Amino acid sequence: MQTIGLVDADLLDGGTRFPNLALMKIASFERSRGAAVRLCLTAADATPCAKIFVSKVFTKSRVPRWIEEIADRCEFGGTGFNLVDAPPLPPEVERSKPFYDLYKPFVDSFGDAPPRWLDAYSKTSIGFTSRGCFRRCPFCVNRKKNAFGALVAGRGVPRRNATLRRFARR
Ligand code: SF4
Repeated sequence: MQTIGLVDADLLDGGTRFPNLALMKIASFERSRGAAVRLCLTAADATPCAKIFVSKVFTKSRVPRWIEEIADRCEFGGTGFNLVDAPPLPPEVERSKPFYDLYKPFVDSFGDAPPRWLDAYSKTSIGFTSRGCFRRCPFCVNRKKNAFGALVAGRGVPRRNATLRRFARR
């Protein structure tokens, strides 16, 4: 069985306090194709992986040195690597239900009493109901990357977008 590695570069450079949604979707999709997946926290974790997806949300996050040595097996993605022009996830991956257990080895490494901030990795579901943000802070990638109020999916989203538009007019 092929093993696919997932590297959360934000996590390895201090953490973002949130799991990487794209990596969890890739993990889910690869599992549906029969592959084994593992979150790579060290170079040793990546050794048995045939392919490795490296993602980061923030441009400031540094990529570990050991990634350079295995770059030929890596695919890089996420806003942190490409602010605006990065291609979206393929539709079949985007539609995949996130594989939340991807982060289990990381959470388990804290032992029996993990800190409260780890709840986002182990007890929380995340997703988009819409894209963009009405606040349009000048430093934020959302201004360039996402059109405000873009519909994503799901029931109730149009009403949610209407609510956001009402706020935006204030
Ligand atoms: S525009 Fe401002 S409020 Fe909206 S996501 Fe960006 S930083 Fe946050």
